[in-house]
Parts: sequence; C-alpha cells; structure tokens
Amino acid sequence: MEALTSRSKVVSNKQMSFKERIYLPAILSGITTTIKHLFRKKATISYPEKTREFSQVFRGQHVLKRDDKGAERCTACGLCAVACPAEAITMTAAERNKGEEGLYREEKYASMYEINMLRCIFCGLCEEACPKEAIFLTDRMVPTNFERNEFIYGKDKLVEGVEERIDVTKRQTKAVLEFKQNKRLSHNK
Ligand code: SF4
Ligand code: SF4
Repeated sequence: MEALTSRSKVVSNKQMSFKERIYLPAILSGITTTIKHLFRKKATISYPEKTREFSQVFRGQHVLKRDDKGAERCTACGLCAVACPAEAITMTAAERNKGEEGLYREEKYASMYEINMLRCIFCGLCEEACPKEAIFLTDRMVPTNFERNEFIYGKDKLVEGVEERIDVTKRQTKAVLEFKQNKRLSHNK
C-alpha cells in the first residue's frame, strides 16, 4: 500500500541488546553532556541578585505622574482605557472640590484608577493615548506575588510620590520634548 506521507516510521520489534538493557552507556552519555555544560558560558543569570541592562524604552510598571507643583495630571478622560487592547484599565471620574487645586491639576480627576497587571501586556498604548502626559510605563518590573488580587494596582501603587518622582524623560521622544517647548499650546501652559 502506498504511504500517505513521507514521515511514517516502520515500528521495529527488535530485542534490546545487552548494552541497551543495562542502560549504563546511555546514563554515562547523559552525564557527559551535563558535565560539558558545566564549563560552558551560562545563558542565564541569578535574578534578582543580578539584573541585565534594560533598553531605555523597556516597558514595565506604569506610573501616574504629577505636575511640577505636585498635582495629579490624570483627568480621568478614559482614553487610556479605550486604547488598552487588554481591557486592563478601569477608573472612576470625580469632580475636584474647592481647595483641592493643589491635589488635582484639572477640574476632573480619577478618584479610582486601577490597572490589572495580570491582563496588561505592556504594549504602551495607554501611554501613547494619554493627552495629559499622565501615564507612562517605566523600567520597573512588576514584582511577583502568590495572590491574584495583589496584581490589581490602584492609585496607591501607581501615582508617584510628591517627593519620590519617577524619571520618564528617556521615554519622551525628541518630537515630544520639542512640542512641550511650545508655550503657545494650551497643553503646555
Ligand atoms: S500597557 Fe497596554 S495592555 Fe497594559 S494597560 Fe497600557 S494599554 Fe493596556
Ligand atoms: S491617564 Fe491620561 S488617558 Fe488615562 S484617564 Fe488619565 S488623562 Fe486620560
């Protein structure tokens, strides 16, 4: 009968030889391979004690930025959530009260803002969609955890501290930096 594919294999019922039955040569061959690898340059590193150098545009844990005066830049416009292909972002918008001008940059702000890090694929589209330069991805790794709930990052983990700013200047392209110099644009005031 004609074979259907060229990949078919004829099964052999041949008895194993004495050498094959004692398995020793096979075991020795395996150990030799292991020993050879001990002296080769390792492809792995002992993370987290050692880390590799990251690319300047590595996309890791997000940060919600504050402006120069310390007010939150996010206005809860929702564009990042719409752009997110993984539907990882949720937020609740609230109206700024009198006296809160130092806390929130504009009249509307996010009273709740969450990113599900288990859903996030770190594509950076939220960063690109944001018209307020409020959200950026950073070179920080999202730490591992045994609890799924711990991967829902709220404002407590996302908003940068007033005294502990996260530098994102390397992520801003030359075109963006030039755009920001233009004081005629209301965006830059
Ligand atoms: S990096 Fe991509 S997947 Fe993650 S929250 Fe932003 S848009 Fe969504
Ligand atoms: S982070 Fe930016 S895009 Fe997302 S809601 Fe805030 S202002 Fe809008």
